[in-house]
Amino acid sequence: MSADPRRAVPRTDTLLADPALADAAARLGRDLVRTAVRAAQQRVRDGDLAPGGVVADVLARLPGTAAGLRPVLNATGVLVHTNLGRAPLSPAAVEAVVAASGTTDVELDLATGRRGPRGEAALSALLDAVPAAQAAIVVNNCAAALALVATALGGELVIARGELVEIGDGFRIPELLEATGTRLREVGTTNRVALGDYTGALGPGTGAVLKVHPSNFVVRGFTRSVAVAELAAGLAGTGVPLVADVGSGLLRPHPVLPDEPDLQTTLADGADLVLASGDKLLGGPQAGLVLGRADLVQRLRRHPLYRALRVDKTTLAALEATLRGPLPPVQAMLAAEVADLRVRAGALAARLAAAGLDARAVDSAARVGGGGAPEHPLPSAAVSLPEPFAGPLRLGARPVVGYVADGRTLLDLRSVPPSSDDDLAAAVLEVARRWT
Ligand SMILES: *Cc1c(COP(=O)(O)O)cnc(C)c1O
Repeated sequence: MSADPRRAVPRTDTLLADPALADAAARLGRDLVRTAVRAAQQRVRDGDLAPGGVVADVLARLPGTAAGLRPVLNATGVLVHTNLGRAPLSPAAVEAVVAASGTTDVELDLATGRRGPRGEAALSALLDAVPAAQAAIVVNNCAAALALVATALGGELVIARGELVEIGDGFRIPELLEATGTRLREVGTTNRVALGDYTGALGPGTGAVLKVHPSNFVVRGFTRSVAVAELAAGLAGTGVPLVADVGSGLLRPHPVLPDEPDLQTTLADGADLVLASGDKLLGGPQAGLVLGRADLVQRLRRHPLYRALRVDKTTLAALEATLRGPLPPVQAMLAAEVADLRVRAGALAARLAAAGLDARAVDSAARVGGGGAPEHPLPSAAVSLPEPFAGPLRLGARPVVGYVADGRTLLDLRSVPPSSDDDLAAAVLEVARRWT
């Protein structure tokens, strides 16, 4: 008998013909499976894997889908975490995405067989949710909405110096606006701006006045800004439109976030257009929402750049289902009672402690994130574990992202849907098992 393991390596053809691997190839694509097979064969050659274990090894290492993005449990306490894909879609939105993914009637009127308006159902869901708006369009994200507004309304944009905001990862709103060829007319100072600063800056070349919600910072002390209602009144009769970027995407005032602007109130206060993201507090897909005066929305829709920024059928489907369907996860997380979070943390900690782990339930502070409500911590509860858990938890079969504070790893439950508590416990136990 040969002791050379290379002779025992199962052949690629034989392996790919195995029913379980053929199944996987049909689901994930032949290339992915072939790559995993080659890696397993190499492990056999290296003596790390028994020849009979190749199929099971390949199956265990294959990803769940043909895409590399993996589902992650967000235990950071940051409800809208940009690095974790912002808002998780509701089950209703996921179903709508799946249904819209194939061939669909996104731009066809099935009754007449003619071309229909694109995404009409999603737009009417938006208008139902924000009755102060006459019309709406949806583009790729809020940055795209800003670029479209700056390009299509043209001319000079008047903006307060205190609202020249950097959102994150080096994304600066003034640089985006200038990249479209628009000139910025900055008014006021870093900490103070008055109505007269705006009205004094208007001229024949003014395209619009832009107000940007400084989502991710506050200026305190000797400050002054001009509210939308005051600015709208000051611009009345000038013909210059007032555009307000509210960022967070709240449809209405929210009792938990009293300082966060919303679309309905901003329009009712007199803004001509409001812009917001779809995947922040609205809890939907990545999108840029533009709502307001019908003539201005029509100008945006007619501009050639709109064609480059418009969204696809799955985004429209997810947006409509988010607006019409049951409460999306982000909204549920925002509304969760801290007492319920403490009960969940207590139950999880008890479960983990029963397995011999140093786990405790502690109070914590969650945040909206995504550049929203920076000064507004949300009372929360977390499972506290020894610090060395943080790294391995990210590398498990179901990655968990928490955070480290005061020498402990904290898993905040406000950003974890209650239906995922079992998965969270299983992930922690898996890490503990790997260590023992
Ligand atoms: C988040 C944010 C943006 C950028 O939104 P995206 O949808 O990420 O492009 C723009 N403006 C404000 C005020 C924001 O808060």
